[in-house]
Amino acid sequence: MPTFVRTEKCDGCKGQDRTACMYICPHDLMKLDKDGSETGHAMKSYNQEPEQCWECYSCVKICPQNAIEARHYADVVPLGGSVQPLRGTDSIMWTIKFRNGNMKRFKFPIRTTAEGSIDPYAGKPTAEMSKIGEPGFFNHNEQNGYRAGDPSELINK
Ligand code: SF4
Ligand code: SF4
Repeated sequence: MPTFVRTEKCDGCKGQDRTACMYICPHDLMKLDKDGSETGHAMKSYNQEPEQCWECYSCVKICPQNAIEARHYADVVPLGGSVQPLRGTDSIMWTIKFRNGNMKRFKFPIRTTAEGSIDPYAGKPTAEMSKIGEPGFFNHNEQNGYRAGDPSELINK
Protein backbone atom coordinates (compact mmCIF):
# COMPACT_ATOMS: atom_id res chain seq x y z
CA MET A 1 0.00 0.00 0.00
CA PRO A 2 1.57 3.32 -0.99
CA THR A 3 1.31 6.46 1.06
CA PHE A 4 -1.26 9.22 0.83
CA VAL A 5 -1.11 12.68 2.43
CA ARG A 6 -4.22 13.95 4.11
CA THR A 7 -4.16 17.59 3.10
CA GLU A 8 -6.37 18.71 5.98
CA LYS A 9 -3.69 17.53 8.42
CA CYS A 10 -0.44 18.37 6.58
CA ASP A 11 1.02 21.76 7.48
CA GLY A 12 3.92 21.55 5.02
CA CYS A 13 6.22 21.18 8.02
CA LYS A 14 5.62 24.87 8.59
CA GLY A 15 7.12 26.01 5.32
CA GLN A 16 10.54 24.43 5.67
CA ASP A 17 12.41 23.82 2.44
CA ARG A 18 12.89 20.15 3.24
CA THR A 19 9.94 18.64 5.03
CA ALA A 20 10.25 15.66 7.35
CA CYS A 21 8.72 13.30 4.79
CA MET A 22 11.05 14.58 2.06
CA TYR A 23 14.02 14.14 4.36
CA ILE A 24 13.22 10.58 5.36
CA CYS A 25 11.98 9.01 2.11
CA PRO A 26 14.68 6.66 0.81
CA HIS A 27 13.26 6.93 -2.70
CA ASP A 28 12.80 10.73 -2.84
CA LEU A 29 9.11 10.38 -3.53
CA MET A 30 7.66 12.98 -1.22
CA LYS A 31 7.40 16.49 -2.57
CA LEU A 32 6.13 19.76 -1.13
CA ASP A 33 3.78 21.56 -3.50
CA LYS A 34 4.66 25.09 -2.43
CA ASP A 35 2.32 27.05 -4.65
CA GLY A 36 -0.32 24.41 -5.24
CA SER A 37 0.38 24.32 -8.97
CA GLU A 38 0.87 20.55 -9.01
CA THR A 39 -1.92 19.30 -6.80
CA GLY A 40 -4.16 22.25 -6.10
CA HIS A 41 -3.09 22.15 -2.44
CA ALA A 42 -0.46 24.79 -1.66
CA MET A 43 2.08 24.03 1.06
CA LYS A 44 1.05 20.37 1.26
CA SER A 45 3.27 17.41 0.48
CA TYR A 46 2.32 14.52 -1.72
CA ASN A 47 3.70 11.21 -2.92
CA GLN A 48 4.69 12.04 -6.48
CA GLU A 49 5.02 8.42 -7.66
CA PRO A 50 2.89 6.08 -5.54
CA GLU A 51 3.69 3.12 -7.79
CA GLN A 52 7.36 3.53 -6.86
CA CYS A 53 6.68 3.57 -3.12
CA TRP A 54 8.71 1.02 -1.17
CA GLU A 55 5.99 0.99 1.46
CA CYS A 56 8.67 1.36 4.10
CA TYR A 57 6.38 3.65 6.14
CA SER A 58 9.26 5.91 7.14
CA CYS A 59 7.32 9.01 6.09
CA VAL A 60 4.20 7.69 7.78
CA LYS A 61 6.01 7.39 11.07
CA ILE A 62 8.04 10.59 10.94
CA CYS A 63 5.24 12.98 9.97
CA PRO A 64 4.70 15.23 13.01
CA GLN A 65 1.10 15.84 12.00
CA ASN A 66 0.17 12.18 11.45
CA ALA A 67 -0.92 13.37 8.03
CA ILE A 68 0.32 10.41 6.04
CA GLU A 69 -1.51 7.15 5.81
CA ALA A 70 -1.08 4.04 3.71
CA ARG A 71 -3.88 3.10 1.37
CA HIS A 72 -4.67 0.43 -1.13
CA TYR A 73 -4.33 1.34 -4.77
CA ALA A 74 -7.70 2.83 -5.64
CA ASP A 75 -7.87 1.04 -8.98
CA VAL A 76 -7.32 -2.38 -7.40
CA VAL A 77 -9.15 -2.15 -4.12
CA PRO A 78 -11.61 0.75 -4.21
CA LEU A 79 -13.27 -0.12 -0.93
CA GLY A 80 -10.83 1.72 1.25
CA GLY A 81 -8.53 0.03 3.72
CA SER A 82 -5.90 2.10 5.49
CA VAL A 83 -3.07 1.99 7.99
CA GLN A 84 -2.53 4.98 10.24
CA PRO A 85 0.12 5.25 12.95
CA LEU A 86 0.00 7.56 15.92
CA ARG A 87 3.41 8.15 17.41
CA GLY A 88 3.89 8.43 21.14
CA THR A 89 7.11 8.93 23.06
CA ASP A 90 7.69 5.21 23.61
CA SER A 91 5.26 3.47 21.28
CA ILE A 92 3.28 3.67 18.08
CA MET A 93 -0.44 3.00 17.99
CA TRP A 94 -1.40 1.54 14.62
CA THR A 95 -4.98 1.86 13.48
CA ILE A 96 -5.87 -0.64 10.80
CA LYS A 97 -9.06 -0.10 8.84
CA PHE A 98 -10.24 -3.11 6.91
CA ARG A 99 -12.20 -3.00 3.69
CA ASN A 100 -15.33 -4.21 5.45
CA GLY A 101 -15.14 -1.30 7.89
CA ASN A 102 -13.68 -3.25 10.81
CA MET A 103 -11.06 -1.38 12.82
CA LYS A 104 -8.23 -2.83 14.85
CA ARG A 105 -5.62 -1.09 16.92
CA PHE A 106 -2.19 -2.38 17.89
CA LYS A 107 0.32 -0.71 20.15
CA PHE A 108 3.99 -1.50 19.71
CA PRO A 109 6.96 -0.13 21.67
CA ILE A 110 9.57 1.82 19.70
CA ARG A 111 13.27 2.19 20.27
CA THR A 112 14.26 5.16 22.35
CA THR A 113 17.71 5.61 20.78
CA ALA A 114 18.23 9.24 19.91
CA GLU A 115 17.65 9.94 16.20
CA GLY A 116 20.93 9.92 14.26
CA SER A 117 22.91 8.36 17.10
CA ILE A 118 23.10 4.81 15.70
CA ASP A 119 26.41 3.70 14.16
CA PRO A 120 25.39 0.79 11.91
CA TYR A 121 29.01 -0.02 10.93
CA ALA A 122 30.44 -0.04 14.42
CA GLY A 123 33.16 -2.67 14.80
CA LYS A 124 33.23 -3.50 11.09
CA PRO A 125 36.16 -2.83 8.76
CA THR A 126 36.08 0.06 6.35
CA ALA A 127 34.99 -0.94 2.88
CA GLU A 128 37.80 -1.06 0.30
CA MET A 129 36.77 0.08 -3.15
CA SER A 130 39.65 -1.91 -4.69
CA LYS A 131 37.79 -5.07 -3.70
CA ILE A 132 34.51 -4.09 -5.29
CA GLY A 133 34.90 -6.76 -7.96
CA GLU A 134 35.34 -9.57 -5.46
CA PRO A 135 32.39 -11.74 -4.48
CA GLY A 136 31.17 -11.64 -0.90
CA PHE A 137 30.50 -8.88 1.54
CA PHE A 138 32.94 -6.17 2.55
CA ASN A 139 33.10 -7.75 6.00
CA HIS A 140 33.37 -11.32 4.75
CA ASN A 141 36.00 -12.35 7.26
CA GLU A 142 34.41 -13.73 10.36
CA GLN A 143 33.62 -11.01 12.82
CA ASN A 144 31.70 -10.95 16.01
CA GLY A 145 30.65 -14.53 15.46
CA TYR A 146 29.30 -13.90 11.95
CA ARG A 147 30.77 -14.94 8.62
CA ALA A 148 29.71 -14.94 5.00
CA GLY A 149 27.69 -17.89 3.76
CA ASP A 150 29.50 -20.82 2.14
CA PRO A 151 27.77 -22.05 -1.07
CA SER A 152 28.90 -25.60 -0.35
CA GLU A 153 26.70 -25.55 2.73
CA LEU A 154 23.56 -24.90 0.72
CA ILE A 155 20.96 -27.64 0.47
CA ASN A 156 20.71 -28.35 -3.25
CA LYS A 157 18.51 -31.42 -3.30
S1 SF4 B 1 6.01 15.39 7.16
FE1 SF4 B 1 3.75 15.46 7.34
S2 SF4 B 1 3.27 17.59 7.87
FE2 SF4 B 1 5.37 17.57 7.08
S3 SF4 B 1 5.12 18.03 4.87
FE3 SF4 B 1 5.18 15.79 5.10
S4 SF4 B 1 3.02 15.17 5.19
FE4 SF4 B 1 3.11 17.39 5.63
S1 SF4 C 1 6.53 4.74 2.50
FE1 SF4 C 1 8.78 4.95 2.30
S2 SF4 C 1 9.17 4.88 0.06
FE2 SF4 C 1 6.96 5.31 0.33
S3 SF4 C 1 6.81 7.54 0.25
FE3 SF4 C 1 7.01 6.96 2.44
S4 SF4 C 1 9.21 7.07 2.93
FE4 SF4 C 1 8.98 7.06 0.67
